[in-house]
Amino acid sequence: MKALVFYAPGNCKIEDVQSPTPDNGEILVKVNYAGVCGTDVRIYKGTKKIKAPRIIGHEFAGEIIEIGKGVNEYKAGERVTVYPVLFCGECYACRAGRKNICLNRITLGYELDGGFAEFLKIPRKAVEDGNVVRLPDNISYEEGAISEMVAAAYNGILKANVKEGQSIVIIGAGPIGLCHVILSRLRRPKKIIVSEPDKDKRGLALKLGADYIIDPKEISVKEEILARTNNEGADIVFIDVGLKDVIENAFSLLKKGGTYILFAGCPEGTKITLDPNMIHYREILFTGSSASTPECQKEILNLVSSKKIDIKPLITDILPLAEWQMAFESKGNYKALKLILQIT
Ligand SMILES: [Zn+2]
Ligand SMILES: [Zn+2]
Repeated sequence: MKALVFYAPGNCKIEDVQSPTPDNGEILVKVNYAGVCGTDVRIYKGTKKIKAPRIIGHEFAGEIIEIGKGVNEYKAGERVTVYPVLFCGECYACRAGRKNICLNRITLGYELDGGFAEFLKIPRKAVEDGNVVRLPDNISYEEGAISEMVAAAYNGILKANVKEGQSIVIIGAGPIGLCHVILSRLRRPKKIIVSEPDKDKRGLALKLGADYIIDPKEISVKEEILARTNNEGADIVFIDVGLKDVIENAFSLLKKGGTYILFAGCPEGTKITLDPNMIHYREILFTGSSASTPECQKEILNLVSSKKIDIKPLITDILPLAEWQMAFESKGNYKALKLILQIT
């Protein structure tokens, strides 16, 4: 089969490799589409370290074509996506229901082979833990392939506990920022304000449910947000871009008692400076958000299937696997929004 194999930073190759066969309890999936994530680009650039050689890609959807002995819950022909994180179920994070931050997590596409390949074997543990999620009939493979990313954004919405009537600020209208727009909108906030330097992404943010958009190159984000919130500041700020200055400045956009959600990987070694009094006296809740759970992913698929949300506009480019390099480059330059590779 054809697969995109990572060997070392700057060195990935499409190769013919042996197709996997499913052992007891395992499932073989034929991958139709796989999403390109910022993390794939970080692996390629060497800022996220994984062991090589490895077939990367952790956002994908396809069809079950073979099942190993002892698998009763699934059958060949079913259309599925797979929550890529295998969690241990025993550490304190798992016991607290926070599988996404499992201490012993291993992930398809990082520690195990992933979805940039024609076929992918899903390990028994993932099958038993319900990581294999069926796609409702009215959901395309393309939508299925990006549902993991949307679910990750949804985890942030749950953490922020977005409520009716609140003022929401979203900094950065990349795929995750736009998911935060779509998913916040469901909870009837008073207003959603999005700051984003790229004109096209601002336009899409408006289309997907933002009330106001700001070009941070043109005007002061802080002044504009204060003006739009009665001089109070926002109830919730989502930081969806990993830039040090942006992360530091966003504390001043919140009202007292506000919630700050940081959803942005930064280059290793990044340090921020902040005034602790800003957190203490203003009782700011400051938390991170990363990845999600199979339950979140099922919930997203239900929301798409019942037409409560539309995630198709997030997909801006579909390229054949052979053009992975171009895909990685435009993802790395923040030009494309959600880019998916057609595998088979
Ligand atoms: Zn991802
Ligand atoms: Zn665990």
